[in-house]
Amino acid sequence: MMALVLVISFGGGANGAENSIGEDRFDTIVLDAGHGGRDLGALGPGGLQEKEVSLALALALEKKLLDRGLKVVMTRREDIYIPLEQRTSIANDARADLFLSIHANASRDSDVDGTETYFLSLKASDEDAQRVADAENLAFETAEERVPVPEDPLFHILGDLIETEHLMESSEFAGMAQTQMGGLEKGSSRGVKQAPFVVLMGVQMPASLLEVGFISNPKEEKKLRSKKHQAKLVEAILVSVDDFGKRYDARRGIR
Ligand SMILES: [Zn+2]
Repeated sequence: MMALVLVISFGGGANGAENSIGEDRFDTIVLDAGHGGRDLGALGPGGLQEKEVSLALALALEKKLLDRGLKVVMTRREDIYIPLEQRTSIANDARADLFLSIHANASRDSDVDGTETYFLSLKASDEDAQRVADAENLAFETAEERVPVPEDPLFHILGDLIETEHLMESSEFAGMAQTQMGGLEKGSSRGVKQAPFVVLMGVQMPASLLEVGFISNPKEEKKLRSKKHQAKLVEAILVSVDDFGKRYDARRGIR
């Protein structure tokens, strides 16, 4: 029952209500640097920790977004542990227009590389996608919570809480982000996928989880460590946020 209580508590405050003053212009983004503190995330063969990569990218992206005059809310700005459900609450309290959770991937096969972008579904688009969600949901399980499984009645209740109105825009953003990240290097795109990520459940805005590369691949670990490659990833994500923001406003009749 714990998971149910938590998910319902996500709803507090925001409920998708718009600011009563002015229009719902695209102006606020929540950046969620995956993992942190005792939750290291995936580990590279050279010792790079996913939590370091996700934070470096989130901080660099924050700077660029602020330069554009956008409001940015960070779920963490330092190496601390933040429970997954708290990340969701931070996003909803901010009444943001986009939630981006930044992660690095891992595989048992050290040859696997490339980027992929996710948006929420209770059913994973394939087995690999489910494995990624299982790994990313570990922080939730170690907090003695449990992630519901499809035959669990909780699953259906959770399903009702997923805001379908935001799925279209989440899917749109995921497509844009993946086009940009995948465009950095020929053959590096693993595409847009869907999976049941706890951190995306209950988020009352378009939301996407970015896997910026495989930390388990020695070559990619090296790239993820380099400021140069980090800057390229940030630029790619930035272009997709700009494009998404323009379409977001156009759909709402804002110029
Ligand atoms: Zn992660």
